[in-house]
Amino acid sequence: MTITSVNPATNETLQEFEPLTKDDVINAIGVGRDAYLEWRQTSFDQRNSCLLKFAELLRSDSDIYARMITRDMGKRISESQYEINYCADIAEFYANGAEQFLADQPMNVEGVNAYIRHEPLGVLMGVMPWNFPFYQVVRFATPNIMAGNTVMVKHASNVPQCAEAIEELFADCGLPNGVYQNLFIPSEFVDAIVSDSRVQGVSLTGSEAAGAAVAALAGKNLKRSVLELGGNDPFIVLEDADLDQVIEHAVKGRMVNAGQSCVASKRFIVVEALAEKFINGFRSELESLKMGDPMDEETTLAPLSTEDAAVKLQKQVQSTIDAGATVVLGGDRPDRKGAYFNPTILTNVTPDMPTFDQELFGPVATVYVVKDEAEAIKLANDSSYGLGGSVFTSDIERGRRVAEQVETGMMFINQPTKSHAELPFGGIKNSGYGRELSHLGILEFVNKKLIHLG
Ligand code: NDP
Repeated sequence: MTITSVNPATNETLQEFEPLTKDDVINAIGVGRDAYLEWRQTSFDQRNSCLLKFAELLRSDSDIYARMITRDMGKRISESQYEINYCADIAEFYANGAEQFLADQPMNVEGVNAYIRHEPLGVLMGVMPWNFPFYQVVRFATPNIMAGNTVMVKHASNVPQCAEAIEELFADCGLPNGVYQNLFIPSEFVDAIVSDSRVQGVSLTGSEAAGAAVAALAGKNLKRSVLELGGNDPFIVLEDADLDQVIEHAVKGRMVNAGQSCVASKRFIVVEALAEKFINGFRSELESLKMGDPMDEETTLAPLSTEDAAVKLQKQVQSTIDAGATVVLGGDRPDRKGAYFNPTILTNVTPDMPTFDQELFGPVATVYVVKDEAEAIKLANDSSYGLGGSVFTSDIERGRRVAEQVETGMMFINQPTKSHAELPFGGIKNSGYGRELSHLGILEFVNKKLIHLG
């Protein structure tokens, strides 16, 4: 088995990488453990200077890394560029904030002289997806490295150029050998890693199936885990919303990363007073997207990450159409080379259809027409997912009331779900558990140790 980079815009093979053997992996864990014993002793200043350098290297060669992302998984070049700069922001956020986030916390209990100390845990394993190949890794690695842990990453097998470049960047910024290691391995090897007593935790971003498999391993081995899985984010439009603004956000919210984002807006739940105008406006915007080479700045609709992803999406969409959904736009693939999918709008999707509760990872929007706010909330909550969501209304208090009733980990008023370094990111229900980013993200894999001074 080799690990291969294939350009999804052309389906052309670009580069092949040799995977590690099981023995290599066992050695890598030892390297990570030895590095941890040294790294945990370093000061915040030492860690900070490495991660600030990491951010500087990302920014200075952002064009190179952006093109790498686009070659590996087909994202539009401007989105790749944004991703690299955002990764630099995240690295700087943790480099500058870690000492404060992890400061000793005195316990204000009468008659007790005690405090909580935040200590690192050891070697951590990250299993990462391809949709934001730099961001997902940086979001996991930088807080944990600042906390004094060491990390190993099994990246998705379709983004090996990015995986290799990230490891080089962490070496070039001055991190000692073994603090960050990229492992070119098949997913079957994750079992041996999580089971190894030298590994203290695992974080996975990806599908529910992969999350459930890794959570089972973590449970069996009593290891800590964080899961950031799929989403089916509701995008609720109430009758007092500004329709022009709504349509602009609907296009951005659904089409980010060609629709392949866990927090993309996926279920458009619109009250009947605005439904027809919304559907017509949304259709006309999606129709005008320009499908093309993701390296071309003029392109507004890129291919999916792989040919397999496009084939899977086609099956999901076709099964929904066969079950009786109405195609307002698209519904199929264009007649061109590459993993492309036409922008699609489906209506009349009902709970008995197979895809009602599935994540559609591509440029496919489902629009639901509801009577009123109460029905909108009920439908938004009729999902096994609970990641993000948004509500559009000109009345902020009303937006807050709706947001508080939707069962997700994040709700946004008058904008689609977004990721910010300073804000917590994560879900509930089948979207996973734990939080990344913000001060919460650095507290997932630390020992909150009580020191009682007697
Ligand atoms: P996967 O969940 O299969 O891949 C994500 C990562 O998990 C990859 O590194 C993958 O490795 C690894 N992996 C997969 N299965 C296991 C396992 N049993 N044990 C350990 N590691 C595992 O995502 P896909 O690429 O197959 O995408 C399928 C669907 O998942 C998408 O259509 C979308 O719905 C969802 N998804 C959600 C994402 C999110 O951001 N929440 C990101 C990506 C996908 P390898 O690549 O070697 O298989």
